Amino acid sequence: MRIRAIHNAVVPIASEIRNAYISFAKMTVSVVAIVSDVERDGKPLVGYGFNSNGRYDQQGLLSRRFIPRLMDADPKALLDDERDNFDPHKAWKAMMADEKPGGHGERSVAVGVLDMALWDLVAKIEGKPLYRLLAERYRGGKADESVWVYAAGGYYYPGKDIPQLVAEMQRYVAMGYEAVKIKIGGAPLAEDLERIEAVLEAIGPSRRLAVDANGRFDRATALAYAEALSAYPLLWYEEAGDPLDYALNAEVAAASKVPVATGENLFSMQDARNLLRHGGMLRESWTTNGPGAELRPGRILADTRRARSRGLVAAPLRPPRRTPIRAALGRGAEPGRERVLSGVFEPFGGFADGVPVENGRVKLPDAPGIGIEAKQSLRGCMSD
Ligand code: MG
Repeated sequence: MRIRAIHNAVVPIASEIRNAYISFAKMTVSVVAIVSDVERDGKPLVGYGFNSNGRYDQQGLLSRRFIPRLMDADPKALLDDERDNFDPHKAWKAMMADEKPGGHGERSVAVGVLDMALWDLVAKIEGKPLYRLLAERYRGGKADESVWVYAAGGYYYPGKDIPQLVAEMQRYVAMGYEAVKIKIGGAPLAEDLERIEAVLEAIGPSRRLAVDANGRFDRATALAYAEALSAYPLLWYEEAGDPLDYALNAEVAAASKVPVATGENLFSMQDARNLLRHGGMLRESWTTNGPGAELRPGRILADTRRARSRGLVAAPLRPPRRTPIRAALGRGAEPGRERVLSGVFEPFGGFADGVPVENGRVKLPDAPGIGIEAKQSLRGCMSD
C-alpha cells in the first residue's frame, strides 16, 4: 500500500464580508487530493483535504516541505501496524521531520490540510464514514445519532443593515438551527448592542445567540463589552482579545456574566494547554475550536477529557472551521458544539446535500470518509 500522488491546488473563496479583524476580499484555500494505490470498483481511493477559511492557501509549504516528505518517506513507514491501512499519526511524524519545536503556527495549517485528507482516505479504505471509524477507535464504538450545531454568520458586509442581519438570522432559524452567532467589534459598541437586540428579538427566547469579536479588542474595550453584554442572555462571548493573551482572557472571563469562548486561533496543543492552565477558563467556558494544526484525534481527545475532568471546559477541542471533520469528531468521538458556516465561504461551509438541520442538530451522511463527495459543489471543486 502506498501513496501514488498528491495533488495540490488553490481555490479562491474571496468575498466582501469581514469580521472585526479581517476582510475576506482576497481569501484563498488550499485543497489537496492524496491518491492511493488502493482500488475500489477499478478506481483508486482518494482522500481530500482543505484548510480552514481565514488562513489563506499554503502552497509554498505544501509543495516544498510537507508533500515531498510524505512522498519521499519509505511507504512502509506510513502504514498502520495493526490494520491494513495508512496511519495518519505516522504520516504526521514523517511530515514533521526536521521541524524545530515552537513556531507551530507557521506550518500547522499546511500539515492540517494533508492530515484531513489522510483521515478521509483511511476511512474510505475501511469503507466507513469517518465518524464511525473515530467512534470505534476512540469511544468504544459509540456514535451519537446527531450533532449539535449552530449557524455562524452575522458578518459585516458593505451596506448590510440591521434588517438584512435579522433576515440572515431568520433564514438560519427557518433551516432548523436553534442557535446562531454574529460578529461584534466591527462597529461601535452602541451599534453592536442594537444588532444584538434586533437579533434576540427576531429569534425569540427559545433560541440562543452567541457573539464573536475575533480577537479585536484591547483590554479596555474587551471589558467594556463584557459589562455591556452581561445584560443579555447570550450563549457565549467569543475571542474578546488577542488569542494568546491568556491573562486578558482570564480577566474577561472573571468580569463577564456571559460565558467566554476562545481557542480557534491557537495552533498547537502546547498553546491549547497553556490556555487551559492560564486562561481563566471556567466550567461554563467554551473552547470553540482546538489547536488548528491537525486532527490527531487521540491527542485532542485526551486533552479535552483531561480538561473536563478538571472542570475546566465544557466543550471539546476541535480543528477549526472545517465543518465536516468537526462534525465527524462530534458524532463519533466526543460530543460538542459544532460550528456550521451556512451559505458563507461556499463550498467549504455547510453539510452534505440533503442533510437537514432538525431541532438544532444534524446527522451525517453514511458515505465512506468525511463525506466530501456527498456535497456536489465541494465534490466538483475537488475533482477540478
Ligand atoms: Mg470565532
